[in-house]
Amino acid sequence: MPATLFDPARRADSGHLWHPWSPIRSDSPRLFLTSGEGCRVTDDTGRSYLDLRAGTLNATVGYGEQRVVDAIARQARQLMTWDLAEVATEPAALLAERIAALCPQGLSRTLFCNSGSEGVEAALKIARMFHWITGDKERTVVASWADGYHGATTAGIAATGAAFRRDGAGPLPEGFLHLATPRCAACAAGAPGHECRVPGVGEWEAQLAAVGAHRVAAILVEPVLSVGGVVVPPDGTLAALRALCERHGILLIADEVATGIGRTGHMLGFQHDLGDGTGPDIVVTSKGLAGGYAPLAAVTVREDIYEAFADDPYLGGLRHGHTTGGHATSCAAALAVLDIVEGEDLPARAAAVGRAVREQLSADLAGNPAVREVRGRGLLIGVETSSIGAAQDVAALAQRAGVLVRAFGPVLTIAPPLVITEADALAGARTVVDALHAVGGAR
Ligand code: PMP
Repeated sequence: MPATLFDPARRADSGHLWHPWSPIRSDSPRLFLTSGEGCRVTDDTGRSYLDLRAGTLNATVGYGEQRVVDAIARQARQLMTWDLAEVATEPAALLAERIAALCPQGLSRTLFCNSGSEGVEAALKIARMFHWITGDKERTVVASWADGYHGATTAGIAATGAAFRRDGAGPLPEGFLHLATPRCAACAAGAPGHECRVPGVGEWEAQLAAVGAHRVAAILVEPVLSVGGVVVPPDGTLAALRALCERHGILLIADEVATGIGRTGHMLGFQHDLGDGTGPDIVVTSKGLAGGYAPLAAVTVREDIYEAFADDPYLGGLRHGHTTGGHATSCAAALAVLDIVEGEDLPARAAAVGRAVREQLSADLAGNPAVREVRGRGLLIGVETSSIGAAQDVAALAQRAGVLVRAFGPVLTIAPPLVITEADALAGARTVVDALHAVGGAR
């Protein structure tokens, strides 16, 4: 490793920093990033990489975006934050109004949190407390797809099926039910030559009946499963879930932490199925909301859900919140990000560029033995490889060639900043294809 200006920080990192979701013993040196501009990031040796993963899917408007930086600096100087339990602040109020305008489905009240996990946690508590306050005290069960990911906090992992995320952290809270993921199990297992069967509302209705649908408080789903391997449910799935929820008095919660704010080609991922007429009862957004410039999550609910909390016997309001939830500088960042997302119609761009990338990947990868499937919606694209090892090898090879992609299990996730040009996205995808050919040829 060449000596760089950042060597003291590298030593500090290896001596003191505990990296989340990361093996402690690893042979590959950790990438050390020092700056970013547009869709590229630079490491401590001065090498530049095209970021096809938008950091952690959050850098939606790219790096070094002056309009966001200025908004943060202005707000930090003026009033960095104050406790929203006690006071109002301009950026939080204006952002809540702005989010309501993005949700023509009648979602009009927003509670702010700091991270996706906190947002999901708050949404689940709101759903359960709503039923409790309105006299339906038996409704406590939360149902979610087994392969979904809903955050790292205790309720988040209880709602998440993967043993990798749960084991050893128990006892987990009760009242969680894992529904069959809307994906063909034989395809997921890589079985050759079978008839596909995707679980749907019939299975879910039966699973709810087994615990008693009258006990179910909420169904919590991602419009496209992100961490679970970019699983795209069949068209109409959310509409069917909406109807299921209405049949049984269950609240529908859309976890749009990854899909929200343009990623899937719509401002909110659920709009693919549900349009403007109807929507979930609660939606959680986070990653793209402040574009990675500041921590922020929004939990946005229907007005009547909000109003019900006036009857809470202890407070006459929501007994939940965080010191920095709705931090004024985070909200100022989000307002500047939304100016860009809306002003440059980034959802439409995500749809168009995403289609072009998927088409190129499908054409270039046909017949590659290391590739099982190319899928996705908008700029949330998954390339399912034949094994976890193959995906990791491809990500490492692509990084060596100057392109960053993320490997989740056997699936490579391609999810660049939404501001990426089609030419850059296609060039980056070609590097990934080359890496897949190198790995496919080697296996
Ligand atoms: N829900 C979904 C759908 C996510 O993708 C994530 C993060 N990957 C979370 C929740 C948790 O968000 P955070 O990491 O900000 O806590």
